[in-house]
Amino acid sequence: MPLLQMKNVNINYRLKNRQVRAVRDFTLDINEGDIVGVIGESGSGKSTLAHGLMRILPGNGYLEASTITLNGKDILNISDSEFRKLRWVEMSIVFQKAMSALSPVHKIFGQMYDAILAHKPETGKEEAIKKLEKLLAVVNLPRKALDMYPHELSGGMMQRMMISLGLIFNPKLVILDEVTTALDVITQGQLLDEIKRLVKEFGLTVMMITHDIGVVNELCTKIAILYAGELLEYGDVKDVIFKPLNPYTKALVESHPDLNPHGGGLRGIPGTLPDLSNPPEGCIFYDRCTCRLDRCREEKPELRDFNNRKVKCFKAGEFNG
Ligand code: ATP
Ligand code: MG
Repeated sequence: MPLLQMKNVNINYRLKNRQVRAVRDFTLDINEGDIVGVIGESGSGKSTLAHGLMRILPGNGYLEASTITLNGKDILNISDSEFRKLRWVEMSIVFQKAMSALSPVHKIFGQMYDAILAHKPETGKEEAIKKLEKLLAVVNLPRKALDMYPHELSGGMMQRMMISLGLIFNPKLVILDEVTTALDVITQGQLLDEIKRLVKEFGLTVMMITHDIGVVNELCTKIAILYAGELLEYGDVKDVIFKPLNPYTKALVESHPDLNPHGGGLRGIPGTLPDLSNPPEGCIFYDRCTCRLDRCREEKPELRDFNNRKVKCFKAGEFNG
């Protein structure tokens, strides 16, 4: 049984005279122990998917799906109060801009404890400190960091602190949304090592949202390629990166200087994301695809099983893989 099962997830944002269809027909199983990299350009719907799963969409956003289960339990049709009981406890999320969430004039532990109490009012101070100390040790943060003010911690230390906070109630699944993005390369490398240690030590399952395919290559076991709100390819990270079946995946890999098999520098993918308030009828990548067929304009390819992975492309396997 998958730890997280998502079937036909659609997430829309209502605007004055239109709707942004930010995530469309997203279907994916995440198994226990997987470290899934969710990758896509800015605006592809990564955070929307995460927020939808955690029920923290803004007021104009809403999610529809046929199934969402966590550990076999229906988490789609339960009430908000039921859902609140499992947020942080079974599934948590850590954001990129951790620092800005904290007040600069109060010490870190007090603010973290307030957040902990908001989720589980019965948590004792000593218990919280004990749990945090254990987590901080794994991510190489000194105990005294809890008594500091936010500005006394570097960006990397702050991210480690926020990740520790997100793990305080031992959730099985943690969603990390661009937690390494604002960090320099060395700090990013350290944080990735620490995340690996946390995964091992606490048996975590991770959804790692990033737009850096290098980070996915370094950390993840699986990769989900998101483009303009649709899942285009999913599978084992090495298979997908080194033998992409979807032309968008291939372009994404080639745009990364370290992963490009032909060498060379950073190359962008010409063109822009389609209008999400009026997505095209056919393949979502049609406009920018260098391998497209006539049928791709009118006909949307299904996500299908192919060589042990999932791919959405009529030509999957013909040009690569
Ligand atoms: P990034 O890499 O920049 O974080 P992302 O993949 O996380 O991008 P989202 O933030 O999920 O992308 O945005 C997906 C789409 O939804 C974008 O077109 C965005 O403009 C739109 N969107 C996000 N939030 C809202 C909102 N509150 N109202 C309307 N549209 C929104
Ligand atoms: Mg985002």
